[in-house]
Amino acid sequence: MTSFNLLLLPGDGIGTEIMAEVKRVIDWFGARGVASFEYEHDLVGGSAYDAHGKAVSEATMAKALAADAVIFGAVGGPKWDGVPYDVRPEAALLRLRKDLALFANLRPAICYPALAEASSLKRELVEGLDILIVRELTGGVYFGEPKEIVTLENGQKRAVDTQLYTSPEIERIARVAFELARTRGKRVASAEKRNVMKSGVLWNQIVTRIGKEEYADVALEHVLADNCAMQLVRRPKQYDVIVTDNLFGDILSDVAAMLTGSLGMLPSASLGAPDAATGRRKALYEPVHGSAPDIAGKGIANPIAMIASFGMALRYSFGLVAEADLLDRAIAGVLGKGLRTADIAAAGTSPCSTSQMGDAIIAELDL
Ligand code: ATP
Ligand code: MG
Repeated sequence: MTSFNLLLLPGDGIGTEIMAEVKRVIDWFGARGVASFEYEHDLVGGSAYDAHGKAVSEATMAKALAADAVIFGAVGGPKWDGVPYDVRPEAALLRLRKDLALFANLRPAICYPALAEASSLKRELVEGLDILIVRELTGGVYFGEPKEIVTLENGQKRAVDTQLYTSPEIERIARVAFELARTRGKRVASAEKRNVMKSGVLWNQIVTRIGKEEYADVALEHVLADNCAMQLVRRPKQYDVIVTDNLFGDILSDVAAMLTGSLGMLPSASLGAPDAATGRRKALYEPVHGSAPDIAGKGIANPIAMIASFGMALRYSFGLVAEADLLDRAIAGVLGKGLRTADIAAAGTSPCSTSQMGDAIIAELDL
């Protein structure tokens, strides 16, 4: 039986509460005998800072580099507001992304039929919505040099950020998007702003070439990023996979998130390059939401985003597609039966707790 080695990093706030439910799901799949999952836990974020003065220790980094997948909860909270910048809880995630070279960020926006009312849009626009946004995560204007604020001779200031992409960076993210489209609706929309940005021109050329030469079976369309934002709100179901750069991806994935109802529902994956020998990619899976300090410790957080993040690990790291589908159906099933944590419950109804949601998902898997 194939064995996978997971590093669980629950983090702070609701991170520990929702990770407890994920562990039950991992154990359920392990007991089912589809694969053997070995996992260990470690501290990350504020809890790691409290223990050893760093948001992520070198020992934890070594385990993350060795793991088949890292399952990450959430970090931060008001308790650590005053800690120095480079050891702040959020630094842990940036360090993990950088050292694991996680260049592809996958954010699905799925609208469960039972939750269509919670969307910012009308039911008919979002019911059955299933988009995957593929965001480049390690390049672009967030990292390009020069990046500085300089004081000019006349006393004025000048701020510079550099939108910088090389052809290999664009090629590899394009391939991730096309590969994923092949497993779904076989359509890719590439979003940039070639009308005003050179990086957009190069992005457009390279995605076009990769599509033509390597993925002729996948339909490719180009869309200006601002138009893409508008189309996401106007008629989101026209999209299957959207591939875009770091900055536009940040914005477009937040727009897409609002189509689905609640932050507590949204998983994400960040993938690195395939290993030359094994073909396995380094990967980190985490909910889109943060540590939610306002509800931490109350046992009311929605564990679905975290559980669905493990579902993405089943699909993208372990190749257990049938199991990933089973888990997605269990989540949809539980919602279909009306179970709701407080964040997705209608006013006047009584919400369930974090562990009751976990119980229900396990029970649904057992059916
Ligand atoms: P970060 O900067 O880490 O993204 P944030 O302050 O932007 O954090 P979150 O921590 O995600 O945001 O919380 C935003 C709001 O959404 C809070 O009111 C929080 O309680 C709620 N929320 C986030 N995740 C969940 C969840 N899993 N279940 C229920 N409510 C949630
Ligand atoms: Mg936030």
